[in-house]
Amino acid sequence: MRWSRALVLAVPALALGAVAWLRRDALLGACAAYAAVLAVVLRRPREVREVAALAAERERAFSRERAELQARIDRLSAEREIGLILNEDVDFRTILDKVLTITADTLGADGIEIHLRDEKGDLVPRAARADGRTTFDVAARKGDPLLAAVLEHGKAIQTAEEGRLTVMAPLSSDRELVGVVRVVAPPDRGEQISRHLAEFSKFLALALKTPDLYTRATVDGLTGLSTKRRFLQQLDAEVAAARRTQETPSLVMIDIDHFKKVNDTYGHQAGDRILRGVAEVILNGTRRSDGAAFRYGGVEMAILLNRTRPERAAEASERIRRAIQEKKFLIDRRRSIHVTASFGVAGFDLSMEDGAELIRHADEALYRAKEGGRNRVVLAERPVRV
Ligand code: GH3
Ligand code: MG
Repeated sequence: MRWSRALVLAVPALALGAVAWLRRDALLGACAAYAAVLAVVLRRPREVREVAALAAERERAFSRERAELQARIDRLSAEREIGLILNEDVDFRTILDKVLTITADTLGADGIEIHLRDEKGDLVPRAARADGRTTFDVAARKGDPLLAAVLEHGKAIQTAEEGRLTVMAPLSSDRELVGVVRVVAPPDRGEQISRHLAEFSKFLALALKTPDLYTRATVDGLTGLSTKRRFLQQLDAEVAAARRTQETPSLVMIDIDHFKKVNDTYGHQAGDRILRGVAEVILNGTRRSDGAAFRYGGVEMAILLNRTRPERAAEASERIRRAIQEKKFLIDRRRSIHVTASFGVAGFDLSMEDGAELIRHADEALYRAKEGGRNRVVLAERPVRV
């Protein structure tokens, strides 16, 4: 009752006033006036409280709206930043690293993982970020049934255990499910993350799809070397440049020696590990500005050196050959072995028909290196034209 408390005072004040008037009593009159003022004053705070409650409600609504807008601003600026990265970087790991960092910051997440589908449609963990560090191609949690369920139904799943909240959301672009993002955060961020992820995951899918496809076509998954397809494109480009500028490239073909025996003795997995190790030595020995390294076939690799004379390419090959010979390749935690590789080197000659002829020359030199006892570099003879 709005008036009840004021009435309790107002009625006696009126009565008192009447008596004071009848008896012409000034003191009684003063008491009546005081009670009347009290009645009015007591009514006031309730009105004030109602106004204050209304203001507080408005302020809450306003700060909700403000948080909502701030979230949108954060998301848009994150999307803009990711857009810029996609324009600048081609290396998929760099892209993944930056995308994960920005996403974790925007969502206020403790950890975040990106799982993408491979060509068979299976989910493969590609990158994870936790404790301020990004790791790639993590084998952990491969085949997680919850992630598979997200992919199957195309809907987000949320779980909470041990004071940690996990949200798994599908990454879909043009109705195609390209993967799943998994976010771990403190429970109080749950609402914010779900709200953000619904929109943000669409953007992530779009941002990652194209560079992933490009990388799969151009970078070999096992060794990190560029693919044969990329090699053939690059070779064509180098040959065309050589005809324009008269500056010719060189080609090095490399094949690991007796690799069948390595596989047979230590198993295919150990073989893969060694192949990765050899590729790493080759990559380290090839400066990016000078050329690029490729996986040409099974255990055959190639280095294409732009504007390089074959003699210099042979010197570079000799350094790499020695580095391979000296390296200890781990088989498992306790055992390591040594392997060697043979090298065939050829320089492009402007009298050559095309890149394929350069490959034939380098292959021939490689064959002679094998014939000559392996673990050596052989420089192809210059073509003689009559
Ligand atoms: P050589 O010294 O004459 O080259 O002898 P080799 O035993 O190395 O013979 P070759 O180069 O013909 O055989 C290469 C072997 O490498 C055959 C194949 O089983 C194996 N290989 C090809 N690709 C892979 C791979 O991705 N991983 C593993 N572990 N082995 C591979
Ligand atoms: Mg071999």
